[in-house]
Formats: sequence, structure tokens, C-alpha cells
Amino acid sequence: MTYLLGLTGGIASGKSTISEFFKSKNIPVIDADIVAREVVEPNTTGLNQIVAHFGEEILLSNGKLNRKKLGSIIFEDEKKREQLNTILSKEIRQNILEKVTYFQSRKAPLIVLDIPLLYEGAYDEMVDSVMVCYVPKKTQLHRLMLRDGLNEEDALKRIDSQMSLDDKKNLADTIIDNSGSIEETLKQVDNWLTHFS
Ligand code: ADP
Repeated sequence: MTYLLGLTGGIASGKSTISEFFKSKNIPVIDADIVAREVVEPNTTGLNQIVAHFGEEILLSNGKLNRKKLGSIIFEDEKKREQLNTILSKEIRQNILEKVTYFQSRKAPLIVLDIPLLYEGAYDEMVDSVMVCYVPKKTQLHRLMLRDGLNEEDALKRIDSQMSLDDKKNLADTIIDNSGSIEETLKQVDNWLTHFS
């Protein structure tokens, strides 16, 4: 039996730091951000559907998706934005399920699904349990400003456009407190692993 762990957090809460730790332990990690790029690569059903909806004009001359063009189309049109979201979320879900099936067939005891929009996309219903990487908002803001070189106003905008980390924390099965050192954080994850196996 394969255990599917959902890993999530808020922007700059430390999710990638934990994800890298799992990878270093040779645990398969499915990265939803990578999947989101894969499903719109040339010759995918995802890109074909987008072209069917939005026209050839959203392609670059090399056949790749012109993200800028697509972005400007959906920015102005909510209905088109919804259509795109419907296409993408279905393709992403299917791609993730395929990857899960692959690792299950390889008899992996544990798979980590690293996905920022875990609750928003109802992936909590698919995974066996959810680990939330948590930091207080002040720490999140500080780390985000530092990592992405943002001023406080822009960093706050990004944080506030997401579901709050406190809400995610309340829904979590496992909370990893990433407000201390990275070492302290990884110790908590390692502890979870020890009890898992
Ligand atoms: P996420 O993947 O959730 O966006 P990251 O793992 O990239 O977050 O962490 C955000 C930033 O904070 C990065 O620059 C990372 O190096 C730093 N960081 C993460 N955890 C800690 C920690 N415990 N102490 C100090 N800095 C940290």
C-alpha cells in the first residue's frame, strides 16, 4: 500500500524546503507547479484544448504557449479565465493521478504531493493526510520580501490573495512549525517520517 501525503503551505512558508528534504530521502515528490507547466507543453491535450478555445494566436512561432498573450486575454475576460481554469485544473488533476499510479506500480511506500493550492483544489479528498508548513504571517512576510526582493506592500498583496495560512493550519492533519531554524523544521519532518515507517 502506498501512502499519499499532501504537502502544502502559503507563499514563502517553507514548503519547498520540506519538499527538498523528502527528495533527499529518495521519496518521490510530485510537484504541482511542474505538472502545471507540463500540461501545456506542445503536443499535449491541454495545449490543444487551449488552442481550440483561444485560437492559434496564443501560440509562439515555435509552437509553445505564449503565456503573455494568454495572460492578457484572460485578464480582460472573466468567462475566458474560468474556461482556462477548467481546462487546466482537469489536465493537472489527471496528470497528477497518472504520476501517483506510476509510483504506486513501483511499490513506493510513500509519495509526497507538493501542491500550493491543495485545499483550494480539494486535493485533501485525494490524499491520505495533509502536512501544512506553517509560519506566522509576520515571518512569512519577512521571508517573502527577502526571497523575492519585494517591498512590504507587494509582498502583503501576494500573501492576502491566497487562502490564509491560519485557515490551512486549522485544516491540517500535521502541522510543521517553520518559524524556527531550518534544522528544527527538518527535525519535525524527520520525526513524522520515523513514525510513518
Ligand atoms: P515556499 O516553497 O513555501 O514558497 P521556501 O521554502 O522557498 O517557501 O521558503 C521561503 C524562503 O524562506 C526561502 O528563501 C527559504 O530559504 C527561507 N526559509 C525557509 N525556511 C526557513 C527557516 N526555517 N529559517 C529561515 N529561512 C527560511
